Amino acid sequence: MDLRFTPEEVAFREEVRTFIAENLPREIKERMRLGHPPRKQDTIAWQRILNAKGWAAFSWPADWGGPGWTAIQRMIFLEENLSAPAPELLSFNITMLGPVLVQFGTQAQKERFLPRAANLDDWWCQGFSEPGAGSDLASLRTAAKKEDDHYIVNGQKIWTSTAHNADWCFCLVRTNPQASKRQEGISFLLIDMKTPGIEVRPIISIDGSHHLNEVFFTDVKVPVENLVGEENKGWSVAKYLLGNERTGIARLGKSKERVRYAKEVAREVRMGGKPLIEDRAFRTRVAQLEIDMKALEITQLRVISAYVKSGGNKPDPISSVLKIKGTELLQNSSELVMDVGGPQAMPVWQRELAALANEPAIGPDWAPQMAPAYLMLRAASIYGGTNEIQKNILNKAVLGL
Ligand SMILES: Cc1cc2nc3c(=O)[nH]c(=O)nc-3n(C[C@H](O)[C@H](O)[C@H](O)COP(=O)(O)OP(=O)(O)OC[C@H]3O[C@@H](n4cnc5c(N)ncnc54)[C@H](O)[C@@H]3O)c2cc1C
Repeated sequence: MDLRFTPEEVAFREEVRTFIAENLPREIKERMRLGHPPRKQDTIAWQRILNAKGWAAFSWPADWGGPGWTAIQRMIFLEENLSAPAPELLSFNITMLGPVLVQFGTQAQKERFLPRAANLDDWWCQGFSEPGAGSDLASLRTAAKKEDDHYIVNGQKIWTSTAHNADWCFCLVRTNPQASKRQEGISFLLIDMKTPGIEVRPIISIDGSHHLNEVFFTDVKVPVENLVGEENKGWSVAKYLLGNERTGIARLGKSKERVRYAKEVAREVRMGGKPLIEDRAFRTRVAQLEIDMKALEITQLRVISAYVKSGGNKPDPISSVLKIKGTELLQNSSELVMDVGGPQAMPVWQRELAALANEPAIGPDWAPQMAPAYLMLRAASIYGGTNEIQKNILNKAVLGL
């Protein structure tokens, strides 16, 4: 098997890298390099720059603004974007809602929502999980009852990332509580977050940030034209969406960038009278991560190659390996960064406390985001389908056990 990139793919990588280097605002890049999550305005600004270039809707068909790339080009683009490091495109808009509307949406829904989603004029969030319905999503209970030309929605979602930023939410709701199979009574609705009866309550996560929310729906009126696909057939829409969510799931570019960053800072940090980068144990750890990243890169190419050969219409269950190994590497590389910071990798809120107490902040600029970034990435093996569930998929679909 020849795993070399073609000359065209090498040239494409160069084109993407150059465009990002020339167009990513310096301030955004510097915040990302220090490990901060992108701010809302950073994500919007960067997605609009990419959209103006025709690259934001990177996986959509050309008719709806996609650049018409191959699967390998898409992989290269995502890797270069993460590796820059640049903010990720808003996945709710680009990898989740967009392909769903292309596949299942009415012409009116496509025209109304797709261009705005690509340009991030609308910020979407994903209302799937509920208390008691995470891995077992089909047990969701948020109810939508049809009354004339509206659905009336009542219930609660949880872990809704960035709902506090969102203009719209794509939501799974139960439209037929009597269906013999739980999956058959679910529908996929587009809900305007400004509709009366919606309340968003923050959940502050272990890294001290506000990324997650609970969303409560009380008698929320949703026009029937906001139903995507057929009523009670939302499970097929959700399955299609979750398959697309796997695009770029290994997020290798980010692990590579974090290891590179750890090495950069390790040149500054001294241990036992010499730079940490010269320490044998540190070098062994970096080498192991680099080997693991190379192995994952090759696995990713094999998965993509199999996907292309199969006609590319169904995600291969083997892509669960990418999720498991990709998130383990993300976690290990952020742990490496935090360990390089040592006692200085203190959480940002301790710095804020120091500021409140009028005491000088401790540590260099690169230090304070190291621990929060590490803590936030603990969740990477939970969201997008937990790693235990991915192992179940591999068990059944690949190993046949
Ligand atoms: C940071 C973050 C962001 C998120 N963003 C969103 C979002 O924007 N929108 C949204 O809808 N959801 C979101 N989620 C929710 C996420 O999809 C769920 O947390 C996830 O599906 C797991 O569900 P749960 O939390 O209910 O855990 P549970 O399903 O209750 O699982 C608890 C534990 O049991 C294990 N487990 C469960 N079932 C099995 C099984 N059959 N076999 C083996 N082990 C099992 C799980 O792996 C896990 O370790 C987010 C979660 C996090 C952490």
